[in-house]
Amino acid sequence: MTEFWENFPLSQLLCEEGFQCECGKTHKTTLKYVDIARGALQNLPLRVRQLGGSHVQMYCDQNTWFAAGKQAAALLKEAQIPYDCYSFPQKKVYADAAPVGQAAMHFHCKSDIIVGVGCGTINDICKIISSLTGRPYIIVATAPSMDGFASDTSSMVVDGLKSSLPASSAQAIIGDTNILAAAPAEMISAGFGDMLAKYISICEWRISHEINGEYYCPHVAQLVRNSLQKCIAYSGKIAERDHDAIKNVMEGLTLSGIAMRFAGVTRPASGMEHYFSHLWDMRALEFGWEEHLHGIQVGIGTILSLKVYEYLRTVKPNKEKALATVAAFSVKKWEEEIYRFLGKSAQNIIALEQKERKFDPVKHSVRLDIIIDKWPIVQQIIAEELPAAKEISNLLKKLGAKTTPEELGIDIKTVKQTFITTKDIRDKYIGSRLLWDLGLLEEAAEKLFM
Ligand SMILES: [Zn+2]
Ligand SMILES: [Zn+2]
Repeated sequence: MTEFWENFPLSQLLCEEGFQCECGKTHKTTLKYVDIARGALQNLPLRVRQLGGSHVQMYCDQNTWFAAGKQAAALLKEAQIPYDCYSFPQKKVYADAAPVGQAAMHFHCKSDIIVGVGCGTINDICKIISSLTGRPYIIVATAPSMDGFASDTSSMVVDGLKSSLPASSAQAIIGDTNILAAAPAEMISAGFGDMLAKYISICEWRISHEINGEYYCPHVAQLVRNSLQKCIAYSGKIAERDHDAIKNVMEGLTLSGIAMRFAGVTRPASGMEHYFSHLWDMRALEFGWEEHLHGIQVGIGTILSLKVYEYLRTVKPNKEKALATVAAFSVKKWEEEIYRFLGKSAQNIIALEQKERKFDPVKHSVRLDIIIDKWPIVQQIIAEELPAAKEISNLLKKLGAKTTPEELGIDIKTVKQTFITTKDIRDKYIGSRLLWDLGLLEEAAEKLFM
């Protein structure tokens, strides 16, 4: 073990024995190969063979077939590797049960390896099929649009509810920058937006470590910071489709997945900004709203979260006020509001609270004392980790990306309620929970989103 492993190039992070870390964990991933370069698709037959594949089951959709599927098929043919390809016939493949059924029904029983060509949904479906069939899986990325390439969960709609399903992660990731750089601009902006989230996720991870004693690894955090910095440094060149800039985004997204595997929690890559996005997804599902790309929503969620932390920097904790506000808090009223806001998706959130009991006044008062005691450290973490909201908004604007919820058709009243509800959707300690503990959540929501 060396203390500098977080500065290793991505390929060296994949070593099988992992890294024994001073945080007490051995950081390991099941990912074996990552090829992110110009012409990386040429490596597909090699990776298939290295993973023991002799007959490929490929999945793509109407767009990704032309973006990379056709070329991947030609390479397999040239290498004399038999393959079956199923291309989803529908215009848009939704992350729900039907496409998983389609994929299963078209799975060729002879195939011993899966190749997914796409990103987002195709990747999520292939991870499930890989897990069900026990076959290894290679993802050929067609856009650097989100950080799920190296993760082992699939974000799916299950029985009408958005869920994170356990699945198998890819064992090889192929990101050919010739293909990635030709992806639609909105998808590239989305990937950059998903990277920006890491400012908030690392900051909140540290804060929760201080307040709740939650597990934290400074080396995993540094790994993520390093790749975020690389993305930011080259961000001015993303719009012109510069291969190095696109490569940095794809590497950053892959690395975020590796960091989550290393830490065994999603903390390194996701925080309050992701919960804005998850809640908008839940509302879209429940009320038939228009859906937007995950990373676009996360980018906007990052700007909103940075504004929340800018507010937090002006706060001086007031114990009496915090205790009085929490004493007046009604769980029954909270439940009604959650139902009104999210419809049937509220069930899971209410069940989560019954298990976690974050609103318990005794637990609250214990946390509050720690918060007051550690307030200078919390302030220092915010100052060290976070850039100004304006700065990040400008970076996204330069890419031509959307930077406000209004541009997604989400009104300010909904944004305010979304912010308040971010504290409830997972058992994760984030900025909105910190404000609730301080008795300032409603006040902050009024000030920030009016
Ligand atoms: Zn560690
Ligand atoms: Zn994400």
